Amino acid sequence: MFANVIVDISHEKLDRTFQYRVPETFSEKVKPGVVVEIPFGKGNRLIKGYVVEVTSRAEFDEKKMKEIHSVSTDGIGVESRLIALASWIREYYGSTMIQALKTVLPVREKERRKEQKKLCLKVSREEGEKAREFFGQKNQKARLRLMEALLETEELSWEIATKKLNLSPALIRTMEEKGLVKVESSTVYRNPIRLHGVQQEKKELNKEQRQVVEGILRCWKEDAKPCLLHGVTGSGKTEVYMELIEAVLAEGKQAIVLIPEIALTYQTVLRFYRRFGERISILNSRLSKGERFDQYERARTEQVDVIIGPRSALFAPFPNLGLIIMDEEHEPSYKSESVPRYHTREVAEKRASLEGARVVFGSATPSVEAYRKAERGEYHLFAMKKRVKDQPLPSVEIVDLKEELKEGNRSVLSRRLREEMALCLAARHQMMLFLNRRGYAGFLSCRSCGTVLKCPHCDVSLSVHSNGKLVCHYCGYEEPKKERCPKCGSPFLREFGIGTQQVERIVQKEFPGARVLRMDLDTTREKDGHEKILEAFAHHEADILIGTQMIVKGHDFPDVTLVGVLAADLSLHAADYRAAERTFQLLTQAAGRAGRGDVPGRVVIQTYDPDHYSIQASKDQDYQMFYQREILYRRISVYPPEGAMLAIHASGTDEGYLSVAMDYLKKFISRFEDKTGIGIIGPADETIAKISDHYRKVLYVKHEDEKVLTMIKEKVEQYMEINEGFRAVHIQFDRNE
Ligand code: ADP
Ligand code: ZN
Ligand code: ZN
Repeated sequence: MFANVIVDISHEKLDRTFQYRVPETFSEKVKPGVVVEIPFGKGNRLIKGYVVEVTSRAEFDEKKMKEIHSVSTDGIGVESRLIALASWIREYYGSTMIQALKTVLPVREKERRKEQKKLCLKVSREEGEKAREFFGQKNQKARLRLMEALLETEELSWEIATKKLNLSPALIRTMEEKGLVKVESSTVYRNPIRLHGVQQEKKELNKEQRQVVEGILRCWKEDAKPCLLHGVTGSGKTEVYMELIEAVLAEGKQAIVLIPEIALTYQTVLRFYRRFGERISILNSRLSKGERFDQYERARTEQVDVIIGPRSALFAPFPNLGLIIMDEEHEPSYKSESVPRYHTREVAEKRASLEGARVVFGSATPSVEAYRKAERGEYHLFAMKKRVKDQPLPSVEIVDLKEELKEGNRSVLSRRLREEMALCLAARHQMMLFLNRRGYAGFLSCRSCGTVLKCPHCDVSLSVHSNGKLVCHYCGYEEPKKERCPKCGSPFLREFGIGTQQVERIVQKEFPGARVLRMDLDTTREKDGHEKILEAFAHHEADILIGTQMIVKGHDFPDVTLVGVLAADLSLHAADYRAAERTFQLLTQAAGRAGRGDVPGRVVIQTYDPDHYSIQASKDQDYQMFYQREILYRRISVYPPEGAMLAIHASGTDEGYLSVAMDYLKKFISRFEDKTGIGIIGPADETIAKISDHYRKVLYVKHEDEKVLTMIKEKVEQYMEINEGFRAVHIQFDRNE
């Protein structure tokens, strides 16, 4: 057995591992994360290192390999536990150990820390006064100034001493040598939260919230199972989280709060700040690298005990982690789209179990996976069925767009929605119009020959932008808008589909007096763009907010009484077994924006598919109905969570070569078919078969047991490693997607 060891946990150095032989006597103890002492360099000096991998493959001549000297038995630090977590991530999701380590260990900043130096007295006051007298008699003015200042303030910053008191570093050093003065330095970490003079505040929990808090605290005493909080929109889940965090902090432990990046707004930070003040910090993509690293350091050194952020905050190196909260647990952004393609819910559970921490998942529309686990008793389930002040849930109406068309209404706004909009504006309330798609104008197609204008590098249609250009949203390719069909020359090019910009134009035309804000990729591109729009809307600077997915997340606008969903079923047509689930979640969350204040909310959902269960269930905001239908479908088709799936994504620049490689891979995997009973689907083109001139194919392997798929994944990894033919093919694994 051999162990790969890193001796320095900084991102640049993670690539450099050293291999050592594991002596028989240690073979039980040496695991990823364990701290070992190893002979290092020419002099075989003993240094400490972390084991990151244990393997049976020697990287170089065994005879020349040194042995691990000893295994450390000191308390295991958070670094060790994070390395153990990385090892699990590598094994489960498929990646190299380095990729996994880089995911869990924060990037160390090369830039020098800001040091703050200060001076203080090293002797008693009495002796200090004697010294002052002495310097006074001797007329040593600079020394006298320093002693006087220190007797007055006890602590003096380096800046004040050198600039204001005009003392030279040489003089300070002399005083230090005389044993009169002490110079201390401490590192100053950047704090991204600039809130001062904000009043602390704690809300009195209502009955439902109190019952949930008490119930969860009781469960924590019994076992380590995660808790799932299913609370309707506006039921006050955040207050519950804060109460639980307080309980954990009281035990001297720390907490991580995961929320989707888009919900990490000023308002959210303010809520946590009101409760916990300077003990909180945030992580988000707007922080600079240095600021990010400082937040990890503040966590490691316990300068803060609550970190709030999107999925990467899960790896905050708290030495004594007590609780992980994952709000909006169903959100797709919790899945990493780069290798290792981990799911935050699964890794949160794993980290908690490695560190003895608690986990609480929360959502108004729990993922089918999480709810199924609660049903099986793997999670404790808690429910909040009422809104905080007992406001009614909004009433939802469904409009069949096929009927509208039959009656001659070709507008994106149905007659019912228009009526409600007029009422809402007349009452001076606010509304949100939600377009269930990416927020751009549609594509161009030729009415004569049917050709759709596509990106030359990707297998996607080009989008029409208001600046008159055709743009590819996958690779950024642009070309001027065409007057004629490139294939048949016909001038009859027509725009299909509708985007937020067009909706805005139509709404402006129908309601000329209304003030409209639009939130989509275009208007939120600039720094803090999305936050600015939300703030403006919160301050009632507009009556109507039009937007995509972005506007449905976790915002609390008490004046919104109407939500219009313009094309509810667009997300149903995605080639994805989660399409119905996503649609239900989006519609329910969107509807949940209405009626949070004192006036009851109304929702109008426009669709071509009014009978679909995901749309019917969101009409009644009936999670149970949706879940029962959905789990049945997953069971019949053996989709997660009723079966496990491993996707093998492959890409390459040569389509024929890629095809052959995938066929070989399939043949290889088929060898395990009889023994294990796995099912193989594909290879097939991905939904988007080409991006930036790279062809893309996918192969799915299904089985009830996840462990079988882990085994298959490992076999495939080994197979590709020894097969030269796979060098030109890029492979990524994905679990349950
Ligand atoms: P959810 O996350 O469940 O949608 P929130 O936690 O955002 O709900 O709470 C909705 C609103 O109700 C927030 O404005 C919050 O400040 C307020 N709120 C929550 N709990 C209470 C309470 N016990 N008393 C008064 N207001 C509350
Ligand atoms: Zn044509
Ligand atoms: Zn492209």
